Amino acid sequence: MIHVDIRSKSFGGRPVLGQVRFDIRPGETVALLGPSGIGKSTILRIVAGIDPDFDGTVDRPDNMAIVFQEPTLLPWRSTLKNLTLTNPGLSRNGARAALERVGLRGKERMFPGQLSLGQQRRLALARAFAGQPDLLIMDEPFVSLDAETAETMIGLTEALIAEHRPATLFVTHARSEAERLANRILQLRGDPATLSPHIV
Ligand code: ADP
Ligand code: MG
Repeated sequence: MIHVDIRSKSFGGRPVLGQVRFDIRPGETVALLGPSGIGKSTILRIVAGIDPDFDGTVDRPDNMAIVFQEPTLLPWRSTLKNLTLTNPGLSRNGARAALERVGLRGKERMFPGQLSLGQQRRLALARAFAGQPDLLIMDEPFVSLDAETAETMIGLTEALIAEHRPATLFVTHARSEAERLANRILQLRGDPATLSPHIV
């Protein structure tokens, strides 16, 4: 079980978050929905442990994967190496299977700059799931893709979540994405932002 209990968060004396409390059960997918600038990425960074400068507590598992808004790949490493370097327990065959699963068969030796944005996102997804995370965190993973590519990516993400069943927390400003993927939607409102829960 993941427990998030943020009492407040400020940047330079300006409160951005008020009380934000929620749990995520194993295998559950929770969407954090709210307009741009409200504090969604700030919450993800706190939950992930990247930003320890807040008032409150977070209990999270050690084995965690993060998919950022931009794919954050190593540009000077091949597609295959991008998978195995971040997942040291993964064999080359395991990495090949993971690439094939996201539709990147035959791209093992290419560099991220030789892949389309959609393919880079697929690689970032493969990398995240390859570590069999107990907690998966995704920050607007489908933003700035064309409608058709976004649709394919959402379907792929849905299938991978169903196969691996991590606890998932993902952020979006698109209600349709939240409704499609999540078991539960948490709506952020106000300044400083707080939660009003919705049941899907
Ligand atoms: P969202 O992800 O919902 O678009 P963010 O969490 O990125 O919003 O940002 C919430 C607010 O906090 C914004 O007003 C943003 O300008 C501010 N903010 C985010 N990161 C920092 C930072 N490192 N320093 C100062 N202000 C920040
Ligand atoms: Mg953000």
